[in-house]
Amino acid sequence: MERLQKVIAHAGVASRRKAEELITEGRVTVNGKRVVELGIKVSNRDKIEVNGLPIYREEPVYYLFYKPKNTLSAVSDDRDRTVVNDYFKGSKERIYPIGRLDFDTTGLLLMTNDGEFANLLTHPKHHVEKTYVAKVNGIPTREQLLNLERGVVIDGKKTSKAKTRLISQNIKNRTAVVELTIHEGWNHQVKKMFAAIDCPVTKLKRERFGFLTLGNLQPGMYRPLKAFEIEKMK
Ligand code: URA
Repeated sequence: MERLQKVIAHAGVASRRKAEELITEGRVTVNGKRVVELGIKVSNRDKIEVNGLPIYREEPVYYLFYKPKNTLSAVSDDRDRTVVNDYFKGSKERIYPIGRLDFDTTGLLLMTNDGEFANLLTHPKHHVEKTYVAKVNGIPTREQLLNLERGVVIDGKKTSKAKTRLISQNIKNRTAVVELTIHEGWNHQVKKMFAAIDCPVTKLKRERFGFLTLGNLQPGMYRPLKAFEIEKMK
């Protein structure tokens, strides 16, 4: 038995909060009876309709995906670019990415059909730690890296405390590889942070999301999350 709003969110119809609204607005029926109070529990056998249409009841699935470059973090694309879902053609569930990586960014992206889980992990309050490895033009000084760590202003907002590590530097080409760990997930945040210290990113990879890492996966490959990993991310 699961809470009705959770089941609706799982079905990909709406976020948990929106699902609650749908219920209180009287747009949800269970076995033909309108339900307006929150918190009732339903089983797999109950027939649930939203706005008069039955909802799909899929088993929630969770994948850790190694996004290759030149792939859009979207379910489909009207310009026919490769999207992350192209790598999940065999999956019958209606999955989607949790958050986004830029088209040219590679690395760890979670995929799920569990709307509630996706909302939880992308909510700013959840503060999932993410580690990126960036190849940049220019060799950042200690002072520049400290600026990143203390926070830089991008789009009028200051980033919160971050961690950096200079992995390597090529003095001849004036390039460097830097690890950056942040908590927010703003649009193009890592690229903008490095741009703010005058070291533009030329290559970007996400290596860690929370405690999850890519492990042995190669670009384009994925694996299901283990039950304990799902629980630990919540
Ligand atoms: N920050 C970026 O700039 N790009 C990404 O893809 C992810 C984080």
